[in-house]
Amino acid sequence: MLTPTHSFFDTLIYFGLSYFDIIKFRYFDLIALYSASLIDLDHLFSKPIFDSKRNPFKAHFLHKNWKTIIFFSMLTIFFYRPLAFLGVGLLSHLLLDFIYIKRHHL
Ligand SMILES: [Zn+2]
Repeated sequence: MLTPTHSFFDTLIYFGLSYFDIIKFRYFDLIALYSASLIDLDHLFSKPIFDSKRNPFKAHFLHKNWKTIIFFSMLTIFFYRPLAFLGVGLLSHLLLDFIYIKRHHL
């Protein structure tokens, strides 16, 4: 899935949580939320860099470790507030990538 889609979804999470006043945001939370998209830097190690027919969970070394990423995300969300939104961003990233591969039968 493309980075603008991930950024848009992260923005929706931010405004959704802000609107309903569920959590008190800090500016660093927004940076952490957007920086979760840096997981897509593993695309740079494959050729071609972007291939819409490729399954990221099989081809890219950071996406391949999705279980570890989910575990790390849960740790940050539940036990380490300063990086909690990095965890939220990583989970939303993996969720969108998962929806993408299911929609396109990869
Ligand atoms: Zn991805």
